[in-house]
Amino acid sequence: MPAKIPELVAPAGSLEKLHYAIQYGADAVYCGLEELNLRIRSENLTLGQLHEGIAFAHSRQKKVYLALNALLCNTDLHRLDEMINEVVALRPDGIIVADPGAIMLLRQRAPSIPLHLSTQFSTTNWQAVRFWHAQGIRRIILAREVPLSDLRAIRQHTDCKLEIFVHGAMCMAYSGRCLLSTYLTHRNANQGDCAQPCRWEYVVQEAAKNGVPIRAIEDPQGTTLLSAKDLCLFDHLAAVIETGVDALKIEGRMKSTYYVAVVTRSYRKALDLYQQNPASYSTPELWRKELSTVSHRPYTSGFTIPDKAPLQSYASKSYEQSHQVHAQVASREDVLHVLDVKAQLASGDQLEAVTPDENRMVEINGLFALDGEPLEQAHPGQRIKAALTPPLAPYTLLRKPAVP
Ligand code: SF4
Repeated sequence: MPAKIPELVAPAGSLEKLHYAIQYGADAVYCGLEELNLRIRSENLTLGQLHEGIAFAHSRQKKVYLALNALLCNTDLHRLDEMINEVVALRPDGIIVADPGAIMLLRQRAPSIPLHLSTQFSTTNWQAVRFWHAQGIRRIILAREVPLSDLRAIRQHTDCKLEIFVHGAMCMAYSGRCLLSTYLTHRNANQGDCAQPCRWEYVVQEAAKNGVPIRAIEDPQGTTLLSAKDLCLFDHLAAVIETGVDALKIEGRMKSTYYVAVVTRSYRKALDLYQQNPASYSTPELWRKELSTVSHRPYTSGFTIPDKAPLQSYASKSYEQSHQVHAQVASREDVLHVLDVKAQLASGDQLEAVTPDENRMVEINGLFALDGEPLEQAHPGQRIKAALTPPLAPYTLLRKPAVP
């Protein structure tokens, strides 16, 4: 029997990103409110926006999972207690939790909403999955440290829904159980406020040499011993699907709209291709290349499919990307498009239009202020109108190769 196609779960750090994730192929999105989730510095959603986002998703038969996955202290429990009725009224398709107290409270007060166990719980074996399943958890987001062979074994021992991360940032600590940020910056990673100090550049210092710093690795860019590469299982998608896993998650609620759209689109296209003919599936090169156009650190298949290459990015702490977004098409009014400008634009510019299905070249034939005044150029942060050939639909992104 052919393997079932897992649900593709994309990050929605804001209402706009929720829209783009769904337009570009996500089956479900996960998002947080302005508190009690693990990305408190992403824009997040207000309750009103969550309501709007859920309506948008449900009207397209897509799902929204709400992350309430901070490790809670007593005052947080009180706040969660206050929020529950409002959250239940919005009918999210699942709530992601990482605290037994929250699990108990939500099971009592919101029994109709499926609970998903956060990766923060570091679930790595089938007995642990069975334990949580028996506590009423409907889906387990396994630790990134679970190799594919263990995932197969877990699948054989349980019918609990299983989700894994396939793409995005990793921690150098065990699935985020880390005090580095708290220690160095007083920003608590386990309450969604990580300053990512593992990405910083460090020197090794020997006390006996009067504190003279020593370079641990000779490299003009310094030493980033703790800095993990980004996970990417795109090349291994067939093997991942064939484990019988139920859902594939893309990390990145702090990432840009462009990142969310392009990464989601690549995984969508690959999953669809596999579904058409599993026997002849091979990694689609076009969509693989697209993963290099977004801001990312060197990719690795991580602990899921270990290889000999280091998981840390010793050579560089910096992100790389081959393309930069210059504008988003917000709407279209007859021949003119309303654009949100992200980087400099000028009349006559040739750009590449990124749509949910393809990329194509487009030319700007005229730029105008919203009141109709012609413009020579447009600048980041402006909302303008533009004549484009060929015309484009909303949710199109306009990009150019990034300047090195
Ligand atoms: S400091 Fe790095 S390893 Fe620690 S939680 Fe933050 S991202 Fe993860």
